[in-house]
Amino acid sequence: MPASVPPGPRSRAVRALSLVALTTTVLLATACASGSGAAPEGDPTAAIPLPGPDDGDQGADTGPDTSGGSGDDAEPPDGAGTDETPAGDGPLGTRVVLIDPGHNGGNAEAADEISELVSAGPERKACDTVGSETGDGYAEHEFNWELSLLVKERLEADGATVVLTRDDNESVGPCIDERAAIGNEAEADAAVSIHADGAPPSGRGFHVIAPGEVDGFTEDIVEPSRLLAEDLRREYREGSGMPYADYLSGDGLDERTDLGGLNLSTVPKVFLEAGNLRNEEDAALLSDPEWQETAADAIARGLAVYLMRE
Ligand SMILES: [Zn+2]
Repeated sequence: MPASVPPGPRSRAVRALSLVALTTTVLLATACASGSGAAPEGDPTAAIPLPGPDDGDQGADTGPDTSGGSGDDAEPPDGAGTDETPAGDGPLGTRVVLIDPGHNGGNAEAADEISELVSAGPERKACDTVGSETGDGYAEHEFNWELSLLVKERLEADGATVVLTRDDNESVGPCIDERAAIGNEAEADAAVSIHADGAPPSGRGFHVIAPGEVDGFTEDIVEPSRLLAEDLRREYREGSGMPYADYLSGDGLDERTDLGGLNLSTVPKVFLEAGNLRNEEDAALLSDPEWQETAADAIARGLAVYLMRE
């Protein structure tokens, strides 16, 4: 469904206040991490050399994501990458963030197109997939789209330039390689693909996926992406109340080398599997508009913490 974009409940002023607190937190955390309790030397936030541009990507759900590709040839990624807004005032005013809402509402009707093989790094994989859904039929592509818009709204309120990989929730694709390319071309400082998993109903919780080492592809982004993953994991867990995925090991952090969206990215990038749509308890949260607002706050904070490290 076309994204209804509920207006964020928090005012710009409130966000500005929270950002001040956030900045303080980051400074303290960085100072602690630097070792001695002595007065911090230099700029404690200047920690992470970020590699160049990155990309957006999608289609990474672990395991049993009920994606179903079917298809026909690739459809033009409707306006992908065109949703760009100028940087504004605010603490993130010089930063560019790529948000990649996984899948798309038109994919199910375009089996041939989305099953076409595209580069995923060393191997080729399907252009895109359909995604999962809750037992009540709330589709993952819709959840991804709605949550992405809420996160975008928050980051823009803090001055960031936000690029989305798709402009609506009724089109097809774009393919995973193109989602990555959009972030690379935008020279994003951070990129996140937003998904929800389709794991066995008995499992619940979220996980963040960071790129593993893939020779010739991910060397430059592994380290910064790991930091991004850790910041996002911490803020999302605290803010959303969603537990770490109990059907995976790793305390909510996973590393993958088979995702085109990560392998083809030249900018720091992670995937968020926000919860398990097939689990009743998770589904109740994931489909709750109020929870989505809270989750978007947490995701935006995770990204902001990372961006303010540099
Ligand atoms: Zn997905």
